[in-house]
Amino acid sequence: MLLAVALLACSLSATRPTCRVQDAAPAAPPAAAPEVTTPSAPLDGGARNLVVVTIDTVRADRLGCYGYFRDTSPRLDRFAAESLRFTRCLTPVAQTTPSHWSLFTGVTPHEHQVLTNFSGGGTRAGGVKGRKSVATLRLLAERMRERGVKTGGFVASAPTKAKTGLAAGFDTFTEPDEMRRLGQSVVADALAFVDGCGDAPFFAWLHLFDAHEPLKPPYLPTDYMDRYVEDDALRGWLRERDFPAAITALAKRGISVAEVNNHYDSALRHLDDQLTRLLDRLDRSPLRESTAVVIVADHGTAAGQRDHMGHGMCWDEQLRVPLLIRVPGIEPRVIDTPCSMLDLWPTVFGLAPTLADADFATQCRGSDVLAADHVERPVFSMGAKPNYDSMTTRRWKLLRDPDGVRLFDLESDPHEAKDVAADHPEVVTRLKAALVAEVARHKKAGQLHQRAGADGVLDPKLVEELRALGYTEDDPSGGGAVGDDDS
Ligand SMILES: [Zn+2]
Repeated sequence: MLLAVALLACSLSATRPTCRVQDAAPAAPPAAAPEVTTPSAPLDGGARNLVVVTIDTVRADRLGCYGYFRDTSPRLDRFAAESLRFTRCLTPVAQTTPSHWSLFTGVTPHEHQVLTNFSGGGTRAGGVKGRKSVATLRLLAERMRERGVKTGGFVASAPTKAKTGLAAGFDTFTEPDEMRRLGQSVVADALAFVDGCGDAPFFAWLHLFDAHEPLKPPYLPTDYMDRYVEDDALRGWLRERDFPAAITALAKRGISVAEVNNHYDSALRHLDDQLTRLLDRLDRSPLRESTAVVIVADHGTAAGQRDHMGHGMCWDEQLRVPLLIRVPGIEPRVIDTPCSMLDLWPTVFGLAPTLADADFATQCRGSDVLAADHVERPVFSMGAKPNYDSMTTRRWKLLRDPDGVRLFDLESDPHEAKDVAADHPEVVTRLKAALVAEVARHKKAGQLHQRAGADGVLDPKLVEELRALGYTEDDPSGGGAVGDDDS
């Protein structure tokens, strides 16, 4: 096979992630971002294989290709320069298990009803108590396998293990014995799988967890730990985003905001070096010309911003994710269309018709954002707790939480610092109406799944009801970029 496993310096064992970084790539300046363009020309491309890499807990603004000042992502930056890079992609929910469920079913959390980590646990084959949607929905891997594609999933942490149902459809699936493992082990498993596919088409999913908290990561090789030090550039970056002087949750441990962010960047760089192993191997083989590669984060993280640690809320730094799509034959460019992770598969299928699956596309609630007739719509996201959600347009962000509703003007206030709801009541009214209607449609879809039979099969009437629900349509706001014309 084309990819020689011997090139890897670490064990292929999924359960013994003991390997160390042997060949960390040297630092390189971030790649210059291509000019933003609006797509209009017909797209064409060919791919028979699909590689999806979910990079856990990576906020877009910490990567060079998204403008960050440190060299956290030299390999990703080079990949981005060969890809479609989406600058305004939001996750539907900033938590790992529900976000991955949305990614691989194409529907919102209220519809698949895996609303928090582990809440969708249990064996999928036996059905998940109270959550029939996990039986009635099809995951992408299931559809791929049914089409004769070899499927392999390789995950790095507990919230993506087989017990969450995410292993459904994978011929091969490896996971850590403990809570987590480093990317070396994940990449090694994936490359071994690709080696074993011979000439058969394959779908490989890699889940990389290197950047996830704890933010003083004891698991990283020591040569990464002192890679970044506090300096004026970091202080300025944090000040621009109104990071607090100290993080309340970490004050007793004596960990400063700068330390948290230095460690986060170290972890990101370690993640990037694992992507080097994967992407270099693919790109040095003929697979470069036959494989579509998607790299996307499941959510971002606060890293101390707003005195928060972790993720699960609806602030931009937790929702905005890097999304890079590379399809053979498709020219790289930057896409600034506001979109959801739910739009990913309709868009990929448009770029690579050879990978398109009509049945799965019908299930997906998103749309092809590169289609000539695409209409920008508010992007819905929700928190990991009840009553946290948001609607985001090109200009506005409506954020709802137990404290009420806030509005941010993203054009003048991209870091969401000033609530301008009182100045634009008409925008609040329209976006809130759109938000309420959206949630109602999602929940209605979830209820329809609950009416499936004990065997997890929806009768044709329910299928038609789900299809007719069309919750990307019938927008009470009138569709389009709601409120963007309001001053
Ligand atoms: Zn995650």
